[in-house]
Amino acid sequence: MEQIRERRVAIVTGGSRGIGRAIAIALAGQGHQVVINYAGNQEAAMETARLCIETNPELTEADILLVKGDVSKKEDCQRLAEAAMEGFGRIDILVNNAGITRDNLLMRMSEEEFDQVIGTNLRGAYLMMQAVSRAMMKQRYGRIVNMASVVGIMGNSGQVNYAASKGGVIAMTKSFAREIAGRGITVNAVAPGFIDTDMTKAMTEDAKAAACQNIPMKALGKPADVAAAVLFFAGETSGYVTGQVLCVDGGMCMM
Ligand code: NAP
Repeated sequence: MEQIRERRVAIVTGGSRGIGRAIAIALAGQGHQVVINYAGNQEAAMETARLCIETNPELTEADILLVKGDVSKKEDCQRLAEAAMEGFGRIDILVNNAGITRDNLLMRMSEEEFDQVIGTNLRGAYLMMQAVSRAMMKQRYGRIVNMASVVGIMGNSGQVNYAASKGGVIAMTKSFAREIAGRGITVNAVAPGFIDTDMTKAMTEDAKAAACQNIPMKALGKPADVAAAVLFFAGETSGYVTGQVLCVDGGMCMM
């Protein structure tokens, strides 16, 4: 069994904004070195890096790496894993958080809307798991946390593409967890409900109020609520927990 290390190396995809930013800050708060991936918003990624160092003054700029890349592209995922290995020499934690929506009713949904969402949310998670797993297997240690959604469990009108991608993420999490369980690597998923980020900003106040009606806690969640669940799966103490899905949703989806 791998010795307990205080400082781990984490990759967070889509770490420039929203939930990914909160996860990067939470991991930095634990003293980990963090590789923050983003699609194009460099300014936001730099702000996440600044907040990581502000949260944990023991970290310096050298402990945070920013890597631009599109997770739907194999070469970008490989480059991201290589950057972590070159920068920090190992990869202990992968948080597959990058995600997009392209909402439409199925009857009107274009192939492009379908493919883009599957490409980023599902294919991206698959490519990243493949890119890091050799390093994790060599270490005989790894924590993979995939960002699903309650929509992947319950379905949602207007989100056939998104629900399919997140349902796929859950199935992929359980399958890879079974494949890799003997190597000291856990694979789990967090399924947020409605969280207050740029992704949900497009909702009208009426739509938000309607959504809250279906949430027993009657409120949207915060990125930090999701980050707390990720920290559990990413930590040393959850080593006997794998293939699980934890909903962070104010009680919306009880299984
Ligand atoms: P967000 O605020 O829209 O941020 C999305 C993040 O993903 C950004 O950092 C963005 O980078 C990055 N990204 C998008 N496409 C990418 C790509 N192809 N390659 C690499 N990075 C990419 O989203 P969020 O609300 O924080 O959501 C984060 C995750 O939680 C997603 O997987 C989402 O599906 C899931 N989730 C969210 C909610 C919610 O209510 N917000 C609920 C359930 C699940 P740039 O800044 O460079 O664009």
